[in-house]
This record gives sequence, structure tokens and C-alpha cells, in this order.
Amino acid sequence: MFHSAGQLKWNGTSDSGIACTIPSKSQPLADRSGEIDTKLIEENHLGIVLSKPARPLEPFRLSPEFRNRVWGFEDLTPWFNVRAEGDPIGEVWLTADTCVVETGANAGKQLQQVIQEFGPELLGPKFQGTSFPLLVKVLFPREKLSVQVHPDDKLAQQYGLPRGKTECWYALGAEPGATVAVGFKPGVTEDQVRQAIEDATLENLLEYLPFSKGEMIFVDAGTVHAIGPGSVILETQQNSDVTYRLYDYGRPRELHVDRSLEAMRASTRAGKVPARVEGNHITLIDEHYFRVDSFQLHGVVSSQELAVSDPNEVQIFFVVDGDAKIAGDGFETFSLSRCQVAVIPASCGPWDLHCDRSVEIVRMVPKG
Ligand SMILES: [Zn+2]
Repeated sequence: MFHSAGQLKWNGTSDSGIACTIPSKSQPLADRSGEIDTKLIEENHLGIVLSKPARPLEPFRLSPEFRNRVWGFEDLTPWFNVRAEGDPIGEVWLTADTCVVETGANAGKQLQQVIQEFGPELLGPKFQGTSFPLLVKVLFPREKLSVQVHPDDKLAQQYGLPRGKTECWYALGAEPGATVAVGFKPGVTEDQVRQAIEDATLENLLEYLPFSKGEMIFVDAGTVHAIGPGSVILETQQNSDVTYRLYDYGRPRELHVDRSLEAMRASTRAGKVPARVEGNHITLIDEHYFRVDSFQLHGVVSSQELAVSDPNEVQIFFVVDGDAKIAGDGFETFSLSRCQVAVIPASCGPWDLHCDRSVEIVRMVPKG
């Protein structure tokens, strides 16, 4: 009896990309005569091949990556216990494809390697490819960031990139007077933008918003934006690193004026997003590419209490404040402290979050 590989449930990665159950490349599914290797696949009494249920993946903590930026800080304490060697640090990437797993069975692997090995078991059935859908960062602007814009998916793909960049900013902290610029003042025309770039007066056309701790700002692709000093920002964005700079305050970095003008849109939906209480948490934003929620937790909290509406979704937990541990059957308990990130795979068994006193967590869920 021969069953084609295509009949079986996805349970691994094949070279051909065909959905199949193959524990290892060295063990063939069928020999040349077409016989199935019964050691690998179980049949019930009717002779129907059943794929073994996928082993649930365990939650894991990721190691942060520190990125040097001219506008950043030398010292990131108290957020991260890190001092820059050389150039200042402006961005800390928390879910980059190259971030390394720090705990459990996959410790030492880069996130992209775990995606390659486990695909939908990690990301859920909605996501294909070998990239994590969201890039979560903490931004530390000591000086102004460039005035910039990101393309949407359509334009990015015209230029051979996998996706555009829609992002949102959550203020982890903000000094009085902290501002960000999101879009242009009403009525600004493209000609005015071109002229202002030439005259180095583009700042005057931007719409500035005060930015306070706990606020969320949505920045959809095509929105010209700039981040000023004074805030510490948790950024959730599509996993893309494409930025077009319109103006950089005279710093010697490259500008991309033509691409910017092509990517920018006169009006977008960008702006502050009112928080909404929903059951045991606050929904900070719920958009096409991501949802971001805030939790204030105490004691022992079960995975059911933190479940998302679709159980097949991957979750990212970021600790804003406090100390916690994640524990469950079949994996080693691990700790989670301020500014650390845990990834909860889509196919994860039950687990508990043990909070030491009160713990504030922001959860990101990629949506599309
Ligand atoms: Zn940006």
C-alpha cells in the first residue's frame, strides 16, 4: 500500500517543500519499491496512515542584539545593563531572525534556524517563509532620528523586497516635552515637501505630537515620520529594515529623496491609538499586521489566562517591569526580567507564568 507524501500532515521540512512527515533527511519515507518505512509512520487497523502529532514546542527566551546608531546612548542602564563600546547604541533588536535562543532544547540556535526547522509549529499556519513576522525593538533616541518613510508591501515588492514596513510605537518611558512627528501638517503638498528638502526646512512641515509614557502611536507604511529625543520606545514592526531618509539634520548619512517621495502618502491613518480595556488586559493597538496588549499580572498565571483568541498564533512577551518565570511540563523553567523577550510558539503545550510581585508585560501577536 502506497501513500503519497502529499497525503500526510505537515510535520517537518522537506527539501522539495512538499508537505510530509519526515523526521530526518537520512531516513527515507519510502524505498525504491514504493514500500513505506513502517518504523516512521504508524498505521491504524484500517491501514490509514496517521502522522504522529507534532511535539509541542516549548516557550523560549531570546537574546537581544544591540545596534549602533549615531543618535543613540552610550549607556542603556537601567533598561539594559549595557554600555556601548565605540559608537552609541540606538536600537535593541529583540526578535531579529539572527537573535539567539537562550533557553531550552533549541538554545544556541538563531531564531531563523528554529523557523526553518519547525515552521508552522512555531509561527502557526498563517505564516510561511523563514523570517519571523514581527521585528520588536527598543529605541533609545538621545538625538533626533532622521525624517523618514517606509514603503508598503506593494512598493517594497516592486523593488524585490519581501515586505514593507508598518510600525507602532509604545512609550516605555518619556521625559516631559518628548515629541514625535507623524505625517505632515494638514494641506502640505508634494511640491512643498520637495522645496523643504532643498531648503533643509522639512521639519517645519511635520505634525508633532507630544509623547507620554504608556501611549501608543500607529505609523502605517507611507507615513513620513521622525522620532525626537526624550522617550524610550518599544517598537513593533513588520520584519523589514527598509528605510528611506528625506532629511537628516545635516548628518552625513545617505538620503533617499526619490524613493521617499514615491513611498510617502499625503494622508495616512497614523496617530495616537486610544487604549481599550478587554477582559484581563488592555489592547494598545489591533491593526492588520499586529496586535499589542498590555497585562499587569500577579501570582501564578496560566497559559489559558493569557491565551489569544486563535490558539494557533505565536506570541511575543516583553517584560516592561518586574521579574517572572515561565514553567511547564517537558521544559526547563526560565526567568524573564525587564526588557527580556519570550516567544510562545503557536503549538505550545500548557505553561504558567510565575510573577514575582507585580509584573507588567506587553504582548505582541503577529496577524498577517
Ligand atoms: Zn520608522
